[in-house]
Amino acid sequence: MVAPKTEEEILLMKENGILVSRTLAEVGKIIAPGVTTLELNRVAETFIRDHGAVPSFLGYDGFPAALCISVNDVVVHGFPSDYVLKDGDIVSVDCGTYYKGYNGDSAYTFAVGEVDPETAKLLEVTKASLYEGIAAAVDGNRVGDIGHAVQSYAESFGFSVVRELEGHGIGTRMHEAPGVPNYGRKGQGPKLRNGMTICIEPMINAGSKSVYLDKNGWAVRTADHKNAAHFELTVVVRKGHAEQLSTFDFIEC
Ligand code: MG
Ligand code: MG
Repeated sequence: MVAPKTEEEILLMKENGILVSRTLAEVGKIIAPGVTTLELNRVAETFIRDHGAVPSFLGYDGFPAALCISVNDVVVHGFPSDYVLKDGDIVSVDCGTYYKGYNGDSAYTFAVGEVDPETAKLLEVTKASLYEGIAAAVDGNRVGDIGHAVQSYAESFGFSVVRELEGHGIGTRMHEAPGVPNYGRKGQGPKLRNGMTICIEPMINAGSKSVYLDKNGWAVRTADHKNAAHFELTVVVRKGHAEQLSTFDFIEC
């Protein structure tokens, strides 16, 4: 059984949620052809530390950077590098903060310049599938209701759901129970209760669902090397409808 958070804890988590959201927006401002992914990481780490927080990914199981930056066929867990973004790329930016004893965690996949129509559709559908999942994250539902909502939406457009990675509970630790898969059956899995804080994070592939681990031991790539998208928000389960603790509003305003 996963213990729901107190309202006091949820407020601290919301501070983290706002900070990761604003960090993603700062990164988004400079995404353009010609920029290296290391530069995105530098902007994020500076912004997080300037706000008195710690980039929680840095050093997590030995991860070497503040952001996971995953370009094109990299689904998640890419390293920032001297790779120069080019027109038509997509870049997934996953950001974690640790602040006042709690964690924030969110991700957004940005288009670099102009992307082809199928890729634009992949981004739109992956983000929309996240909101489908959030709509299912209500008191009394089960984790499988979230996965089912994400999966049925994404697959209805012919895209596929990565099975090897999933969302998660979040709190004083970045990854807490329950796991929140992006596929599943209605009515199955752990019960969702008012006050549980979870990250929902669809990882959706344009082609096949198969992925493999890069030889660097971190980056997860699509087996067919088609593009993958990743959007993540932190929410608190409530009665009736979930409350978002992080948001894309700062990016999309
Ligand atoms: Mg994340
Ligand atoms: Mg996460």
